[in-house]
Amino acid sequence: MRKCNIDTINFIRSIYNTNDNVYLHEPRFIGNEKEYLIETIDSTFVSSVGPFVDKFELEMSKLTNTAKAVAVANGTCALKISLLLAGVKSEDEVITQALTFVATANSISYLGASPIFIDVDLDTMGLSPKALEQFLIQNAELRNDGSYNKKTGKKISACMPMHTFGFMCRIDEIVRICNKWKISVVEDAAEALGSKYKGESSGSFGLLGAFSLNGNKIVTSGGGGAITTNDINLGNEAKHLTTTAKKPHKWEYTHDRLGYNFRLPNINSALACAQLEQLDCMKNSKEKIFNQYKNFFKNSEINFVDIPKDTNWNYWLMSIMLENKKDRDIFLKETNQKGIMTRPIWTLMYRLPMYKENQRDNQKNAEYLEERIVNLPSSAIL
Ligand SMILES: *Cc1c(COP(=O)(O)O)cnc(C)c1O
Repeated sequence: MRKCNIDTINFIRSIYNTNDNVYLHEPRFIGNEKEYLIETIDSTFVSSVGPFVDKFELEMSKLTNTAKAVAVANGTCALKISLLLAGVKSEDEVITQALTFVATANSISYLGASPIFIDVDLDTMGLSPKALEQFLIQNAELRNDGSYNKKTGKKISACMPMHTFGFMCRIDEIVRICNKWKISVVEDAAEALGSKYKGESSGSFGLLGAFSLNGNKIVTSGGGGAITTNDINLGNEAKHLTTTAKKPHKWEYTHDRLGYNFRLPNINSALACAQLEQLDCMKNSKEKIFNQYKNFFKNSEINFVDIPKDTNWNYWLMSIMLENKKDRDIFLKETNQKGIMTRPIWTLMYRLPMYKENQRDNQKNAEYLEERIVNLPSSAIL
């Protein structure tokens, strides 16, 4: 085994103080989780409505400083409904990044639209505004009702940047460019709950933002998600659409359009409320781990990935950048064999069978990162 890899394994064991397996990101329940869960069971309100759903929505809108937040079943359906409300229709195109989790691209496909993959910035690992602008100048035609792809003739109706590992992409520039080209912005903020960019919260920049509270995220409701927006009408529509589009009535079942059952049950919302109370605590603990890693890697041959400029980070998932793919593969093999769970960054979307034919730019930075980035165990220590 390589010396620097052995040293890294020993160091990770020392910070997590265990000889057992060290996982990538484990949930922590140290607050009112049990109390709130018991409360929902005692009340019998475990399902689709209840006070914790309302409380979670209120807390999410406070946290993100947005006009409205809507609780939904998971991050993937938050993305799908956000795109739908942003006006994405079947046969449209949506710009996003190839360096992302598959749900980003899939949520576009679920609407019958297709993703266009634009490169990321090296430091934020999120959609590059430079690459975006260059693509639009070369490939798009701005008409009265929006931008059209000159090659395919299709409408480019939305742009969905993703905040990788909770780092913020250059979202202000992306919004500025998209406004110019009449393209709606939906933020995939699934990983960025609690992150800020130039003092403003993730999920508050675009027309809509989508969050995940899956078990591997910074806080969890078991499974869950939220849609945020500063447009109160869109927020109300998001609630209506994700709750079967039922018209309010004491007893009649009337539904005014094709709605979805994407509700987050009260029992999951209870967990979400307790976890949101712990968000600052998680961030503080993870910041300490970040600083320990940073100190350790200062004296190592391995490069630790630092926080990009302008991000006030949630410290979700920490990472290193190896020299090349060969070093990356050796590191992944040696750490995982020794019970230290490390993971590569995602396989780029256009390598997957569903997205092979999709339009994309040169992907220089995405391919560079794909070969080198590895995530380290990043669970909070309490
Ligand atoms: C986790 C995640 C999602 C999906 O969230 P789920 O709650 O698992 O559906 C979407 N996009 C990104 C970038 C994610 O990391």
